[in-house]
Amino acid sequence: MWLHCGVKFNASVHAGEQLRGNRLSELRLMAVHAHPDDESSKGAATMARYVDEGVRVLVVTLTGGERGDILNPAMDLPEVHGRMSEIRRDEMARAAQILGVEHHWLGFVDSGLPEGDPLPPLPEGCLALEPLERPVEALVRVVRDFKPHVMTTYDENGGYPHPDHIRCHQVSVAAYEAAADYRLYPEAGEPWSTHKLYYNHGFLRQRMQVLQDEFAKHGQEGPFAKWLEKWDAGEDLLAKRVTTRIECAKYFPQRDEALLAHATQIDPNSFFFTTPMDWQQRLWPTEEFELARSRVPVSLPETDLFVGIEDLT
Ligand SMILES: [Zn+2]
Repeated sequence: MWLHCGVKFNASVHAGEQLRGNRLSELRLMAVHAHPDDESSKGAATMARYVDEGVRVLVVTLTGGERGDILNPAMDLPEVHGRMSEIRRDEMARAAQILGVEHHWLGFVDSGLPEGDPLPPLPEGCLALEPLERPVEALVRVVRDFKPHVMTTYDENGGYPHPDHIRCHQVSVAAYEAAADYRLYPEAGEPWSTHKLYYNHGFLRQRMQVLQDEFAKHGQEGPFAKWLEKWDAGEDLLAKRVTTRIECAKYFPQRDEALLAHATQIDPNSFFFTTPMDWQQRLWPTEEFELARSRVPVSLPETDLFVGIEDLT
């Protein structure tokens, strides 16, 4: 069953919202990501909104992103090569500052994206080759310390098939379960039951189509034609999984600024930044999530990650 508690109408949701309104500063959100920069491209505006509302937000990054390619030609410099690990730490610190989030490195090593036919073996010592228990125990420790009410991560496909993204899903789901179980990892702190677990689903065909159509309306070519061609219209399976839309248009500029802080990874001239901000804010003002597990009664669809959470302890 995909949702532990089932979905039922909860008459006290409104009361819960009231409670939430009064106690925003007591709410905590933890977003688990595979690499530095993932936090700025998946759910970043949602995090910025919650920070602005007084919620404590912690980003946990599983790896140092050491094997990321330099994707911005302007940063393809001799002084950058060989210092990726250090540079990506600085970039992450800057992005966290822009989003207003706290940040924790889980300390594992980037597996890289294997390419070629046949695929090369994964590099020794990387996250994807670690026995699952090691990153799970490390994350359980952080969960029991930070005590989030809500966690976010990726779905079982990782959003895209990078081995660290798939691993991020496995580690997060296992830690969500294990952190609540006093029999597991007793050395890693007192048990903590996170109330809800979500998957990020920001990369939707429908969003891309809406923006592409707006370019056409303005007599412009638009940057998404190739993507949309490859992406069969019937294939928007992700959209069907969305349970929760968070209004966060006001925070899109902050999201872009955080993304650009990852200067080695993001080309400011890429298609990602060509859609005018006011079109994005007007035509698709939300970020999307899928409620994957819940320990509180819920009523779907939702417009708030914390709805239904009344007992904050
Ligand atoms: Zn990544």
